[in-house]
Amino acid sequence: MFEELEKVREKCLKCTKCDLHKTRNNIVFGDGVVGSKIMLIGEAPGFNEDMQGVPFVGRAGKLLDDILGSVGLSRKENVYICNTVKCRPPENRNPEQVEKNACREYLDKQIEILKPKIILICGAVALNSMMGLNGGITKVRGKWFDGPNGSKMMPIFHPSYLLRNPSHKEGSPKWLMWQDIKEVRRYFDSL
Ligand code: SF4
Repeated sequence: MFEELEKVREKCLKCTKCDLHKTRNNIVFGDGVVGSKIMLIGEAPGFNEDMQGVPFVGRAGKLLDDILGSVGLSRKENVYICNTVKCRPPENRNPEQVEKNACREYLDKQIEILKPKIILICGAVALNSMMGLNGGITKVRGKWFDGPNGSKMMPIFHPSYLLRNPSHKEGSPKWLMWQDIKEVRRYFDSL
């Protein structure tokens, strides 16, 4: 599994299929445990990710690690993390459809090789790519949907959104995230 994934990563490192290659510093391919039951798919690399070549670093990444850690999950032990698009869009804009289409083969290969049982769809860009839905996460977050290879997919809030909405009150985005990650843990334990 690792060798297969490494071949895809090596192809990705040289990729010039869309214009995002012109401005990237690093490809951000994925991070975490190869063979994890959980794959989290985010949007596209931001500044810190592009500089380090690792997804979900900086404040949003720290919050994501805290959220996973709150139910005993981590990218060191049981989660693999990647993005919809592997190169940073300039000024952190959302990736365009043509860019998402160009990059899709790498995401599809990651899913095909890793065969996660749980796919967490993190943010609106990933929601659109994986489920073809437009709009925000709010209406679909916390629900299970059928995913590829018999997996279950759950849309969840992006940690950047949670950073902008710091309230912990019942019904707030952070509170909802807490309910969702507990459900993820419950299902993970049932596998
Ligand atoms: Fe290739 Fe994806 Fe980077 Fe575009 S974003 S250059 S398709 S790796």
